[in-house]
Amino acid sequence: PIATQRVHSIATIGADGIGPEVIDAGVQVLKKLAELDGTFSLDFQDYDWSSETYKKTGQYIPDGGLEKLKKHDAILFGAVGAPNVPDHISLWGLRLAICQTFQQYANVRPTKIFRGTSSPLRKAEHGDLDWVIVRENSEGEYAGQGGRSHRGQPWETATEVSIFTRHGVERLIRFAFETAQKRPRKFLTVVTKSNAQRNGMVMWDEIAAEVAKDFPDVKTDKMLVDAMTCRMVLDPKSLDTIVATNLHADILSDLAAALAGSIGIAPTSNLDPTRQNPSMFEPIHGSAFDITGKGIANPVGTFWTASEMLAWLGEEQAAKKLMDSVEAITERGIATRDLGGKAGTQEVTDAVCAELEKVY
Ligand code: ATP
Ligand code: MG
Repeated sequence: PIATQRVHSIATIGADGIGPEVIDAGVQVLKKLAELDGTFSLDFQDYDWSSETYKKTGQYIPDGGLEKLKKHDAILFGAVGAPNVPDHISLWGLRLAICQTFQQYANVRPTKIFRGTSSPLRKAEHGDLDWVIVRENSEGEYAGQGGRSHRGQPWETATEVSIFTRHGVERLIRFAFETAQKRPRKFLTVVTKSNAQRNGMVMWDEIAAEVAKDFPDVKTDKMLVDAMTCRMVLDPKSLDTIVATNLHADILSDLAAALAGSIGIAPTSNLDPTRQNPSMFEPIHGSAFDITGKGIANPVGTFWTASEMLAWLGEEQAAKKLMDSVEAITERGIATRDLGGKAGTQEVTDAVCAELEKVY
């Protein structure tokens, strides 16, 4: 590489199930893209951390592993979860360990209907649904606070305490406003449940109103989370950027993925907006053991993920070319079975690489 070239160091962790298959497809496309573009290069380093290594060693991340990971500019992640490991062990052992260590407090999930694909919403098509959900990713309902007493007794009690800090809520809402500001419509919907939850959710509303003063060009509105589910189905065009708590956004983003047609297409970014640590990019789908090893996993979720990663690293032009190429492919009906097509993972990957050759 020439001296002026931008170099980005990427850690890849395929992990479980179809994770390694879709990451392999993503790396093929990214390598092609960097080669064609010529103004930047990507340095990949693979980490074979998975439920298999956990079963052998008792650890998902070996000693010193997080320090190694910290040296990279970004992390491209597949999926974690295996049939014989409890979900809370695998999730906390790998994915959440990374999110927590690297303060990836903002989780961002865009959703849209691709050209040539259809939504379960009758009449909704490309352009009718184009959202970004910003999810609080470090505290709230998933803070892990609480406990159980009187185990096994009829009077057993469990508490699950939500933690909302001014610091945590403010930084996330500010990030959501910045996200909305960069999109053409500059429109942010703040979702809470402040009619029923009168402490944390009311504080959330208050902080949103305060931060809004710093973004006079961004329009906002407020929704209760229950009403929000109806609005997403009945009036998808009325929404753009959405911000919500850890739990609420978790639920809303699964609904969003389903409305877009398949969970095989959407990405999620776990961001440290301070950029002191690497951020992590992953498709939203899980390890999908039912289709593992068959060569039929949809790689589009990982391609969109790769595009989001490139944009975060400052390679906006390449990011856009990648998405344009992916959508040119779906428009022509080259798609895996989950989208109603017949192509395999490699066929879709090759088609996207060929399309990239055309746009460069
Ligand atoms: P997890 O607990 O990790 O979320 P899961 O099994 O609950 O895993 P997924 O792995 O996301 O959820 O799979 C849900 C369904 O969607 C499965 O039937 C799977 O085959 C399908 N699916 C998921 N990802 C893809 C993909 N990339 N391509 C095609 N089908 C997929
Ligand atoms: Mg799941």
